Amino acid sequence: MPTVETVLGPVDTADLGPTYMHEHVFVLTPDVQQNFPDEWGDEEERVADAVTKLSALAASGVRTIVDPTVIGLGRYIPRIQRVAEQVLDLNIVVATGCYTYQDVPMFFHYRTPEVRTLLGMEEPEPMVAMFTADITDGIAGTGVRAGMLKCAIDTPGLTPGVERVMRAVAKSHLATGCPITVHTHPGTRQGLDVQRVMAEEGVDPGRVVLGHSGDTTDVDHLSALATAGFWLGMDRFGINVETTFEARADTVVELCAQGFTDRMVLAHDAACYIDWIEPDALAVLPQWNYLHIQAEVLPYLREKGVTEDQITAMLVDNPRRFFDGG
Ligand SMILES: [Zn+2]
Repeated sequence: MPTVETVLGPVDTADLGPTYMHEHVFVLTPDVQQNFPDEWGDEEERVADAVTKLSALAASGVRTIVDPTVIGLGRYIPRIQRVAEQVLDLNIVVATGCYTYQDVPMFFHYRTPEVRTLLGMEEPEPMVAMFTADITDGIAGTGVRAGMLKCAIDTPGLTPGVERVMRAVAKSHLATGCPITVHTHPGTRQGLDVQRVMAEEGVDPGRVVLGHSGDTTDVDHLSALATAGFWLGMDRFGINVETTFEARADTVVELCAQGFTDRMVLAHDAACYIDWIEPDALAVLPQWNYLHIQAEVLPYLREKGVTEDQITAMLVDNPRRFFDGG
């Protein structure tokens, strides 16, 4: 039986159930939070708030979320364990990797493969050693193993830092078999850069989700990547700033009509708490929450002719196939 690592241990892929492939629990800036803790407020209240929000998500029928919160996004697994232990009917898959649009974090800036090779170290790229250990040994002594690898590429494109992380993620995937999710900016067609780097590294596109694919309505671009074997993350429902609810949903409808139901996965990219945004500013995104897909997106898709089988494919079968190995 193929299994997926979750916060509370391995789960059979057949038991994942309805799965949102990209939801955060917390997105934080630890360096700022450690020095300006008033913003975060009371730890107990934050944990209780997350338990409430994720319990409501589980009550909506969702059984699994993948939380791609990695270095650069404030990953802290002991807090996620506290939450997971109180929401037992929701599996939480956590991730390893590094989130940057430009440079590697300063931690890695001078710890280069060249320096480490000169020092005679076995694995020249420190990120490969760290990501691989998160997957095989567990994260920071918690015993929780990462079930997903994550990197990012955005409007600055394939900068040297972005490429270094992406290749480290690819190598960690090849060493462990752990699948990959990539934050992309499809408006500038960076899936093509991902495609080239992953091909050079020998990664099967069937092991890679191109996250945030739903940020574009460029169906030709998305269908080409899906045809190449990538998974399309239609995973930002509710973030209707540069797009609209209808544009996001209609893109899914169109891709379903064109035969790409079996290449799409769904999510909101929501969080219980994200310190990147002034809390009052979130009022402009009333649909950006864990319940939006069930409450509003799925009814809209059904109205537009997407069948129950197609919805089950995107929510249940595709995540299972992805974790089974593409
Ligand atoms: Zn995200």
